[in-house]
Amino acid sequence: MIVYSEEYLKHNREYHPENKNRLRAIMNLLTREDVFERVPMSVPKKASDEDILRVHTPLHLEFIKSASQKGGLIDADTYLSQGSFEIAMLSAGGAMSCADFHKEGRNFSFAMVRPPGHHAEPRRAMGFCLFNNVAVGAKYAMDAYQYKRIFILDFDAHHGNGTEKIFYNNDNVLFFSLHQHPLYPGTGAIGDIGEGKGKGYNINVPLPPGISDESYLRAINEIAIPVLKEFDPDMVFVSAGYDGHYADPLGGMQLSPKCYYEISKALKKSKVGVAFTLEGGYSLDALAGSVHATIAPFYDIEMDFEKSRVEEAAVTRYTDSKLNAAKKIISEYWSV
Ligand SMILES: [Zn+2]
Repeated sequence: MIVYSEEYLKHNREYHPENKNRLRAIMNLLTREDVFERVPMSVPKKASDEDILRVHTPLHLEFIKSASQKGGLIDADTYLSQGSFEIAMLSAGGAMSCADFHKEGRNFSFAMVRPPGHHAEPRRAMGFCLFNNVAVGAKYAMDAYQYKRIFILDFDAHHGNGTEKIFYNNDNVLFFSLHQHPLYPGTGAIGDIGEGKGKGYNINVPLPPGISDESYLRAINEIAIPVLKEFDPDMVFVSAGYDGHYADPLGGMQLSPKCYYEISKALKKSKVGVAFTLEGGYSLDALAGSVHATIAPFYDIEMDFEKSRVEEAAVTRYTDSKLNAAKKIISEYWSV
């Protein structure tokens, strides 16, 4: 199922990379490729104040609510349009709708939402994000359906600092982030593994700029998937950002749509419900093509791919050392 609403286009700022054309590009491509002939579409539910407050402080909720009455910038790169509050509630609601859908035993959903969420912390908006959509979805799923374990895979090129912070002391939600380092927001160190009973349930795999499909997929297949299987979650959320694509203007990785296709194949094999929630991705064609590639394996859609980009030998060596370091740090908690 694909969750989408035209309302998401109303949060917009011209010349800002996170604008309405991103969703338009995705929906146009999926329509042109007849994806909706196989994949049902649904409108999102709207998060309530109570749903947001499972993750954010009352002050943050009130701030977004009142500031969006007139709109404008709330930090150097995060904006509100008039009415962005309502749209952000619908964006968080998109992730909740996915949880409802998976309760019925389905294996795939994708919330095509804006504004994105993974940088939003309990008390503040940042990095284009107002509310943390996947976190609201995960908390809702645990409350509504008594889920005990949720795995969040974040493959956006940027570290999901907000999601990390929200679940840092938590062993019900395992947050696993692959991200480019160095890059905004600068968090996501390999040694940040969680605190208290959350120790071992926060996994960061920082990766170098220039990394291509093969090395990236090693991180997925050698670390993310084995940990996911061992954790044995009731449901998986994916913070699906596509700024790791080689054409992306904000990221420096060299991933191609084939990489996203392979990630989906690996997730599908794990036989657990997977809810993708859109995060970043700022090259319109790259974004749309990569979303298509993410959906394809779940519906046995055949795709032709260009060749993966060639990665420099130094990048491969550096990645090797990072993967080994990550494995070593988490081997106290997981069999990797
Ligand atoms: Zn990003």
